[in-house]
Amino acid sequence: MKVVVLVGGVGGARFLLGLKVALGLPATGPGPQDSPHTVTALVNTGDDVWMHGLRVCPDLDTCMYTLGGGIATERGWGHAGETWTVSAELAAYGAEPSWFALGDKDIATHLVRTHMLRAGYPLSAVTEALCDRWQPGVRLLPMTDDRVETHVVVDDPDAPEQHKALHFQEWWARYRAALPAHSIVPVGAEESAPADGVLEAIGEADLVVLAPSNPVVSVGSVLAVPGVRDALRAAPAPVVGLSPIIGGKPVRGMADACLTAIGVETSAEAVAKHYGSRTGTDTGILDGWLIAEGESAEVPGVTVRDTPLMMTDIDATAEMAKAAFELAGCDID
Ligand code: GDP
Ligand code: CA
Repeated sequence: MKVVVLVGGVGGARFLLGLKVALGLPATGPGPQDSPHTVTALVNTGDDVWMHGLRVCPDLDTCMYTLGGGIATERGWGHAGETWTVSAELAAYGAEPSWFALGDKDIATHLVRTHMLRAGYPLSAVTEALCDRWQPGVRLLPMTDDRVETHVVVDDPDAPEQHKALHFQEWWARYRAALPAHSIVPVGAEESAPADGVLEAIGEADLVVLAPSNPVVSVGSVLAVPGVRDALRAAPAPVVGLSPIIGGKPVRGMADACLTAIGVETSAEAVAKHYGSRTGTDTGILDGWLIAEGESAEVPGVTVRDTPLMMTDIDATAEMAKAAFELAGCDID
């Protein structure tokens, strides 16, 4: 079975671990050559940012380190056994931004990436090269090779009567999404093109899954790349999603602030309606939607089923992936 998954960072990466196990693949590292199953992750790059002259791709790296077995599990992002010498030295120079700490090991990744980008390689080729080392066992494809950066429009903290656009990272990491957002815009998305392989993967998939990632700044950014939504609507494969919202709240992080900014209620039902049904709407992409156990949601044209949705460990996450297979009518054995 060919599975394509739309993902962000931490939530997406954790889901991919369970999905691999549900397909009989090892959670981390490469699978056996003879496995009949392949996973392609279409990864959000709207969080990407230039920091101290380095190109940082937080969601791609979170997926790569997590699936490659090198993530700092307690934080959910960055390397295991990370040190922070370079960040401390930068702070001693007063080098801004000071609110985004880059680990020493992580910096090596960004150095290799930046060097290759400067040499003219597209991000997808750079990602493939980095994955040669990490062996995530999943094909990690950036949603686009073009520069797309999510910006958040807020009241200027220094001049409250004026609006100001912040890079998503600044809003998220520096202000903890506490500055109310007027809008969230994936800047550059309209002029971007899907990375090589993205539309092909969707067209050839046996199953497409929307991970329980942030619906606005993770999955939403991938959907903002021209052609992706149409490819999903036209895909022969079923498209099913898992709710990142349980009990009217995001499980981790501040997705509620993002949903509020785009005028969507923080509920599993509202998120599914925002994605929309593939049948009966002009832009919708969902055939099926998984919501947390005991909850209910009414989404016209979408088959909704409730199931445990907490990724407490890899086995629980694998059960979520199996529930997605079942909802989609896919038989993996
Ligand atoms: P980010 O890029 O690191 O923010 O990660 P993602 O966008 O991939 O995932 C963030 C989303 O994952 C948040 O909106 C969370 O609500 C959701 N999430 C995190 N843990 C869980 C979980 O155990 N179950 C479900 N259903 N969602 C989760
Ligand atoms: Ca992210």
